[in-house]
Amino acid sequence: MLSAFEARKAVLETVPVLSTESVDLHGALHRALAVEIIADVDIPPFDNSAMDGFALRSADTISASISQPVKLKLVGEARAGDVRPETLKPGTSVRIMTGAMIPPGADAVLEQELAALENGLVEIRAPLSPGRRVRRGGEDIRKGATVFGKGTVLGAAALGVLASLGISHPEVFRKPKVTVLTTGDEVVDVNEPLLPGKIRNSNAYTLDGLLQEDSCEPLDLGRARDEEGELRTKISEGLTSDMLITSGGVSVGKHDLVLKILKDLGVQIKFWKVNIKPGMPMAFGIYQAAGSDARTLVFALPGNPVSTMVTYLQFVRPALRRMRGSAEATEPIHLLAKLEHDVSKQDGKRHFSRGILRNEKGQLFVRMTGSQSSGVLSSLVAANCLIVIPEESTEIKAGSEVEIELL
Ligand code: AMP
Ligand code: MG
Repeated sequence: MLSAFEARKAVLETVPVLSTESVDLHGALHRALAVEIIADVDIPPFDNSAMDGFALRSADTISASISQPVKLKLVGEARAGDVRPETLKPGTSVRIMTGAMIPPGADAVLEQELAALENGLVEIRAPLSPGRRVRRGGEDIRKGATVFGKGTVLGAAALGVLASLGISHPEVFRKPKVTVLTTGDEVVDVNEPLLPGKIRNSNAYTLDGLLQEDSCEPLDLGRARDEEGELRTKISEGLTSDMLITSGGVSVGKHDLVLKILKDLGVQIKFWKVNIKPGMPMAFGIYQAAGSDARTLVFALPGNPVSTMVTYLQFVRPALRRMRGSAEATEPIHLLAKLEHDVSKQDGKRHFSRGILRNEKGQLFVRMTGSQSSGVLSSLVAANCLIVIPEESTEIKAGSEVEIELL
């Protein structure tokens, strides 16, 4: 059986990076850049005022004091968006608005709140240093600078920066199309009556949410009964997407048919079962139709709702990051926290327990959410992290440091 580490490595070695496309900025949020972005202008493009006030020559103010203020003649107004080609003459000032171009000759701004205006004269009561309240052209981004590397995932601020640079249609990686198939005779959809022996399909919605968080295009194939014909039809449909995720039917039960059908349909299974808890019976494979370049990754996740989610976070999310061209880390980020109670286990598996992390005066403390049954999904709602208990650990005492992964 592979370890979690080996399984993730095997997945990442198999993942194809998707093709790229150019998209409107409105659709670029959370997409990964397929190219490096080099600035072809300075941002801001020109020196401009940081405040509403008066633009002046700082050299004029050297002798200014409270008892002997310097008086500058007000000769005009510079509005945001204006161009004032005339050079500001010594001994004069113009009223200036935030964002307006600094007139040639001027090199400082006195903010309105500190200025006194009398009879068309601006009074200055202290020397002003050159550059005061001036935002320099290029102080944000210099022309020629590398602004973003390839693989940068575009957040809201990055969209704004691209707009400042005049890039309306950045080249980004395609969104993965991911089909989701839930399986199980007992599983009914959210709107169906809950007849005896049945449970509602929670995995379809958890997976849909996770895929949306990962900026994918999820397609719900609905539920298949544990029956060969139905599974074959729906799985075949799913194999036309970039990734197929199934839930349930992948363990050793008499009616667990997913693995068999995947193999029958030509999916090359890379591994089945990982030495983890929850989520041990998951399988991973790849499918390539004869005569086609397109490949479909297949994750067959166990049906227990917590197992589904934990295996998604450990293996599917890293795969999606790679597929989406994202430069984000594929290994989960670990923090250390002090365990608030003893933990013991004997099964030699790597455990991902649901934890509640808190910060007390800069020290992180973590405790488990209670029942760690892989069917108790509500405890994943209560949890804010997964506590990682390594394979070899058996007894961990309260107060020991443990690794956690934030949810
Ligand atoms: P399986 O992996 O098919 O053996 O299912 C393991 C457990 O997960 C069983 O108790 C199922 O009823 C439950 N389960 C399977 N699929 C779903 C689903 N889509 N939503 C909620 N629970 C499920
Ligand atoms: Mg089942």
